[in-house]
Amino acid sequence: MQQCDSMQRYSAKENYPNYTGFKCKVAGHLTLEMYEKLYSRRTKNGVTVDKVIQPSCDNMGEIIGLIAADEESYTTFGELFDAVINEKHGGFGPNDKHPQPDLDASKLVGGNFEGKYIKSCRIRTGRSLRGCCFPPALCRAERREVEKVMVAALQGLSGNLAGKYFPLTGMTKAEEQALIDDHFLFQKPTGHLMQNSSSARDWPDARGIFHNNEKTFLIWINEEDHYRVISMEKGGNVRSVFERFSRGLQEIEGLMKKAGREFMLSDRLGYLCACPSNIGTGLRASVHIQLHKLCKHPKFEAIITALSLQMRGTGGEHTAAVDDVYDISNRARLKCTEREFVQLLIDGVTKLIEMETTLEAGKPIDSLLPPGV
Ligand code: ADP
Ligand code: MG
Repeated sequence: MQQCDSMQRYSAKENYPNYTGFKCKVAGHLTLEMYEKLYSRRTKNGVTVDKVIQPSCDNMGEIIGLIAADEESYTTFGELFDAVINEKHGGFGPNDKHPQPDLDASKLVGGNFEGKYIKSCRIRTGRSLRGCCFPPALCRAERREVEKVMVAALQGLSGNLAGKYFPLTGMTKAEEQALIDDHFLFQKPTGHLMQNSSSARDWPDARGIFHNNEKTFLIWINEEDHYRVISMEKGGNVRSVFERFSRGLQEIEGLMKKAGREFMLSDRLGYLCACPSNIGTGLRASVHIQLHKLCKHPKFEAIITALSLQMRGTGGEHTAAVDDVYDISNRARLKCTEREFVQLLIDGVTKLIEMETTLEAGKPIDSLLPPGV
């Protein structure tokens, strides 16, 4: 690997990034001393410390700046990953452990929202195929293997989960745009993390989408992660979306196991993805919710944050709300189970609807505000 060779001709000190003015988390943790320690390490795939910190060198903003290039990156460069994970996830020490998965929808309390506020619900997670590099380092053949393994497993899905795979390469521009407009399909990623780690190489080779007939169960292949598993539907039934999500995920896992393959799952960190912010459950449970009144309240953003929720626009990350419809989801991915995150969303959304109806009745919401707001 050329990158290893040239790194070996220079000392860590000579090659240390210039982080003057950089605000990213890596810059805060990667001292010269730590860089020297990690400098000569290589994973079995030849991944270097430079490979995993590249986003931190190309963006001065308040980002994480770290991306794993293979499963081993998390341990080979453990000192750096642990420090960044600890900060990003609000305290997660080297001896802390993410809980075991819990996909039991029957234990949810509430979650079938009726009425006008919730337009649609969606639950997604990221999964990675053990044995293959993450997008920053995978080669074309490996990316095609990631696609092949999943497409083979998906053939075995039964009942209302069964569907068809549509590779991006076989799609017309109009078909692709229609799927994007309906919120089913990803666009070529343009975020800094993907760009600075060259993760969108060879686009659209080996990328595609599977969906069942009703388009309520979908798998994205080789977007930001090897796999994104998505359950979604119109209306407000978060429970049913989680039930289908869990059933689909477990069926796929079983079908992959039969073929001798498995997802990357760390005993300590949970499910592993390229971005350290997505480890643990990788789960984002979101609703599209219309809040004509509350969104104009001066404390709207503070309320969302205090409820441990996150806000995006109607078209997803980096978009704006249209007609006061917001994408509201759990903010964290680690330290709680899948079911707990879905419950957190249900509880938060219940409060938001209560505030909206109170404002509609012309009453103040002071007594409903979460503590600290
Ligand atoms: P993620 O990273 O979780 O996949 P993005 O913010 O990248 O989410 O959005 C991906 C797509 O999913 C976008 O088209 C977005 O509008 C859509 N989406 C997200 N949540 C919902 C929801 N609750 N209902 C309908 N579409 C949604
Ligand atoms: Mg996204």
